[in-house]
Amino acid sequence: MKIALALFLAAAWSSTMRAAKPLAVYDVDVEGGKCVLLVAPSGESMLIDVGWPGYNGRDTDRIVAALKAAGLKQVDYLVITHYDIDHLGDVPLLLSKFPVKHIVDHGPMEASGKTPSDRYQAYAALRDRMDHITVKPGDQIPIKGVHVLVVTAARQRIEKPLKGAGAPNPICATTPAKPEIPSDVEDNMSIGLLVTQGKFRMLDLADLESAYDYRLMCPANPIGSVDVYQVSIHGQDKGVSPVLAQALGARVAIMGNGARKGGAPQTWETLRGASGLEDIWQVHYSIAGGKEHNPPDDYIANLAGFDEAHWIKLSARSDGTFSVTNGRNGFTKTYQHK
Ligand SMILES: [Zn+2]
Repeated sequence: MKIALALFLAAAWSSTMRAAKPLAVYDVDVEGGKCVLLVAPSGESMLIDVGWPGYNGRDTDRIVAALKAAGLKQVDYLVITHYDIDHLGDVPLLLSKFPVKHIVDHGPMEASGKTPSDRYQAYAALRDRMDHITVKPGDQIPIKGVHVLVVTAARQRIEKPLKGAGAPNPICATTPAKPEIPSDVEDNMSIGLLVTQGKFRMLDLADLESAYDYRLMCPANPIGSVDVYQVSIHGQDKGVSPVLAQALGARVAIMGNGARKGGAPQTWETLRGASGLEDIWQVHYSIAGGKEHNPPDDYIANLAGFDEAHWIKLSARSDGTFSVTNGRNGFTKTYQHK
């Protein structure tokens, strides 16, 4: 009887410990490509994009290092948001080094009107032999322990506002309408994800361009506000419209830029002009940004002239409190839930 009680208490304690674990999100440095790793409190994981191919497997090595540092033995869901080379990377090489259970994407590359590249075809051949999920807006990626909702995919968007969202977006009326979205831009095929962990919310729209922001966020905001915004399209000037930045009201923006890619001054101004924004964190110092358009050093994982592949790590608790850590020097800032 005593043994049974001890076992029961041990199990209860261990489930409490599991529940207390935060959601971890790493912005891995892939030099202006994209790679974001999520580790749910359950231990399941989701990798969003895999950086660039080439460079002697540089990005794959960095991703594997991050996966190991996070204590993972496998990736449960690999999401390829779209097929541009700075996201598609070298999936066959990654899979030769680390197990992946399910692959998620937006469907055939032909759907964007582009001729499939050799790299896409090598990816698709491998993907088609695995468990493959094609997602559309409104779908959930079934990672355990965190809610991951698809809000955009293959130029489609969620049709109905999420619970508690749907308020008119006043910036739409004062911002000139953007031209039609060209149909052959693969960026705008991006899978966009809303990650919810209790009261914590994070939006990642991959490479959706600013023209698409209008389609998603006007005349009403279907998403509501978020705590953290993973800055679209590496912070390049063709991404991030005020209609998105203002409506999201993010407290923290995390930018997966490279030294010479993204981090555009115009994006910086748009983010800084958004009400509620407290800090911008960047994977790299932006050369284009100069003194005026970069955060203080503690908020930059890789400083000017240094390329040591440091990441930015976010930890979020279901009470809405989250912290961000600079992988270079350990500088951490905690944002208490408001
Ligand atoms: Zn990109």
